[in-house]
Amino acid sequence: MPVTPLHVLPTLAAYLLVSKRVHLFAFFSAALLIDVEPMLYLLFGVPVPKIPLLLGGESTGVHAITHNPFAIIILVAPSMTILAKALERMKSFWLTVFHDAVWVNRSIRSIYFSALLGAFLHLGWDLTMHHDINLAFPIYSVPNPFINQQSLDLIWNLSLLAIPLALMLNARRGEKLLKTVP
Ligand SMILES: [Zn+2]
Repeated sequence: MPVTPLHVLPTLAAYLLVSKRVHLFAFFSAALLIDVEPMLYLLFGVPVPKIPLLLGGESTGVHAITHNPFAIIILVAPSMTILAKALERMKSFWLTVFHDAVWVNRSIRSIYFSALLGAFLHLGWDLTMHHDINLAFPIYSVPNPFINQQSLDLIWNLSLLAIPLALMLNARRGEKLLKTVP
């Protein structure tokens, strides 16, 4: 079972701290939809691939394709940027759904960097728990050196602390963060 729902908490904590600079949809979608890959194998029975690497050997496991810097830069972040721009085309629809929201237009570059940030945040936490992440994909295979239960717990606990702190800080600044779309 993928731990995707658990990613909501650290993602929300990080978002609340940097919300003025990031595109909400691109950030969250990259941080959560990156797990479409493990879900395909674990929930829908798609066979786990064995991907030959450029310098020999192969990458395999449920995180083989998307959970590495290369794929985040050339696949995950661009896909989420396209999705975010598609969402923007339905701007009037979203503003009727969230009628008191404020639409913030952001550049493609800003959307792409928001998606990068969301996906790297996800990867950073996953690195503490999944053995099959290959940071050198697609060149060669390196075992994940960052498996660490204490770091995993620390990120979770810091997120629990960061959410109320960020909400308090933002409330003092009088910002309505969660009413901002996207
Ligand atoms: Zn993941």
